[in-house]
Amino acid sequence: MTFTHEQVQFRDTARRFAREKVAPLYQQREKDGRVDRGLVRDMGALGLIAPELPEALGGLGLASVISGLVAEEIGYADINVAYVQILASLNGAIIARHADPALAAMWVERIVSGDAIVAIGLTEPRGGSDAANLALSARRDGTDYILKGEKSSISMADQADAIVLFARTGEAAEGARGVSAFLVPMDMPGVSTLRFNDLGSKAIGRSSVFFDDVRIPAANRLAAEGAGFVQVMQGFDFSRALIGLQCLGAAQASLDESWAYVQQREAFGAPLAANQGVTFPLAEGEGLVEATRRLCYHTLALRDAGAQHTAEAAMCKWLGPKTAVDVIHQCLLTHGHYGWSTDLPHQQRLRDVMGLEIGDGTAQIMKLIVARERLKAAR
Ligand SMILES: Cc1cc2nc3c(=O)[nH]c(=O)nc-3n(C[C@H](O)[C@H](O)[C@H](O)COP(=O)(O)OP(=O)(O)OC[C@H]3O[C@@H](n4cnc5c(N)ncnc54)[C@H](O)[C@@H]3O)c2cc1C
Repeated sequence: MTFTHEQVQFRDTARRFAREKVAPLYQQREKDGRVDRGLVRDMGALGLIAPELPEALGGLGLASVISGLVAEEIGYADINVAYVQILASLNGAIIARHADPALAAMWVERIVSGDAIVAIGLTEPRGGSDAANLALSARRDGTDYILKGEKSSISMADQADAIVLFARTGEAAEGARGVSAFLVPMDMPGVSTLRFNDLGSKAIGRSSVFFDDVRIPAANRLAAEGAGFVQVMQGFDFSRALIGLQCLGAAQASLDESWAYVQQREAFGAPLAANQGVTFPLAEGEGLVEATRRLCYHTLALRDAGAQHTAEAAMCKWLGPKTAVDVIHQCLLTHGHYGWSTDLPHQQRLRDVMGLEIGDGTAQIMKLIVARERLKAAR
C-alpha cells in the first residue's frame, strides 16, 4: 500500500503522539475505567479526530484514508482511545450530513476539537443484529418528540455528551421505514445510564441508557422522519473500515513486541527466534494483518472515490477483529508464562479486540451483508 506525502506526514504525526502520549497509559486506563478528556482535546488540537469532516464545520476536509491511518496508529497505542476516532467519524458524518445546519455547526466543531464525545444508540435489550426491529419510541408532541424506552450495550454512554439515537416514530409493522434518528444531549432531563461489567474495553465502558419521557425539540431529528435507517445508517460503511484498522493496529503492536521478545529470550541454548516453530506463526500473523490492512485501505479509497463499498466494509469489520484476536492470541502464547500475566498488555489487547467481534455487528451479520450485496450484483 503506498500513501501520498501528505498522508505519510499525517500518519507520522499520529504515530508520534500515539506512542509518546497514548501508549504509556494503556493499562492504567483500564483501571481508571475512562478516557481522559485532556487527551481527547490534545488529539483534537492536532487534527487527529475525524479529519475527513468538512472544513466549513471545523474539520480538515481530508481523505478518509487519512482517518484510517490515524485509527490504526491510535489503535496500536491503545485500541480503546481509538473509539474516540471511530465514534467521531461515524457520528460526525451523520450529524454533518443530516442535522439542521445550526445543530451541525455546533456539534461537529465540538467533536473534531475533542470537546464533545457522541455515542451511537442502536442496540436494545431485545437484540442488536435485527437492528431495524427496535422499540424505543419517539412520539410527536407539538414541536417536540417524547422519547421513551431503553438502549443497551452503548459504548462510552456514561462519558458521552450526546447520543445519536435511533427511535421508532412509525408503527412496528413499518419496520426500518418507521425508524428516525435524533441527536440527544446526554444531560437532558430523563436520560440515565447504567454501566455493564465487561470483559474488556473497560476504559470505554458499555451502558444501558434509559429514556424516561425525554422531551427533545423536533429540530434535533436527523434527516426526515422515517429516514433513520434508510439514509442515516449508511455511515456504518465508513466506521467498519476504521474499526478494522483500529483492531489491526493493536495486533501489530503485539507482533512488534513479540519479534523483539523472541530475540531476547533463550531456550535450549539459543534465542527463541532460532526456531521456525516460533517465528512462522508470527510471520503468518504479519501476512494476515497486512492483507486485511490492505483491504481496509482499499475500502477507504473506494469511499474517497465515491464508489460503492458496502460489501468491502463488511469484510473489514469481519476480518479486522478476527485477525487481530487470532494474532494477539498467538503473541500471548509466544511470550510463554509472561504472556499470561496482567503485567504484559497482550491479555488486555485480546480482551479488548474481542469485543469488536461483536460490537458494530457480528461476523455473521457482516457475512449476511456481503452475501446480500453480491447476490444483488449477480441479478
Ligand atoms: C464492545 C461492544 C461495543 C458495542 N457498542 C455499541 C454501541 O456503541 N452502540 C450500539 O448500539 N450497540 C453497541 N454494541 C452492541 C452490538 O452492536 C450488538 O451486540 C450486536 O449487534 C449483536 O447484537 P446482540 O448482542 O443483541 O446479539 P443477537 O442479535 O442476539 O445475536 C446473537 C448471536 O446470533 C447471531 N445471529 C443473529 N441473527 C443471525 C442471523 N440472521 N444469521 C446468523 N447469525 C445470527 C449473532 O451473530 C450472534 O452471534 C456493542 C457491543 C459490544 C460487544
